[in-house]
Amino acid sequence: MTTEPSRHYGRVMLKISGEALMGDQGYGLHPPTVSRIADEVESVQQMGVEVCMVIGGGNIFRGLQGSAQGMERTTADYMGMLATVMNALAMQSALEAKGLHCRVISAIRMDEVCEPYIRRRAIRHLEKKRIVIFAAGTGNPYFTTDTAATLRASEMNCEAIFKGTKVDGVYDKDPIKHPDAKRYGDVSYDEVLQKHLGVMDASAIALARDNRLPIIVFSLDAPGGFRSILEGRGTYTRVQN
Ligand code: UDP
Repeated sequence: MTTEPSRHYGRVMLKISGEALMGDQGYGLHPPTVSRIADEVESVQQMGVEVCMVIGGGNIFRGLQGSAQGMERTTADYMGMLATVMNALAMQSALEAKGLHCRVISAIRMDEVCEPYIRRRAIRHLEKKRIVIFAAGTGNPYFTTDTAATLRASEMNCEAIFKGTKVDGVYDKDPIKHPDAKRYGDVSYDEVLQKHLGVMDASAIALARDNRLPIIVFSLDAPGGFRSILEGRGTYTRVQN
């Protein structure tokens, strides 16, 4: 178990993949799962922490899959970005059902649906303790939502990116296939890149490294897991220099 004295985080970025929202269905959105993740966010927000979120789109569409099937790559990537907006709206709805205030901010303008990305406005929402979900990735094809999370976390001056996954950290090999896999406690950005440790894509890792933004990989499946790490408990891997 990785433990350290509790420190107070003022503002954090939670990055989850689109697949985290699909439950056991294999595709799309599973509302009870979305609601459970909203509970995790609520419990952190109740600590007084300002929460930003980026949600992927892989439960609906991935650009690379589309282009592998003959679709033009940039078009497929735009479809992927639109998928992230659907996920962001589903999460907003789940958070609002719990009485929380939340804004969806899109990198691609769609004013009837959500706000456009204006950095100072997003910061103002956070200062007012609204949860801010950044949708449509970076707004550019050839990127991923991991890079979008790193970019927005840097712009919002977040203290860390919390990457919620199916496993409780970064392992030297796939822990689901290899029972003897070892989990890293702390690992450097360069080691992640050199060993292809699969935390995030290389662009996202390099951006986090250049902006000295720690990445904390933890299991989103463990109830209360997000909050426990913010309280200085729990099991996770931290990527930093
Ligand atoms: N995407 C993109 N630019 C971005 C972010 C995302 O083109 O800045 C597209 C890309 O096609 C990607 C899809 O959106 O495959 C869904 O995002 P991602 O694969 O990161 O979702 P996740 O794996 O986290 O669910």
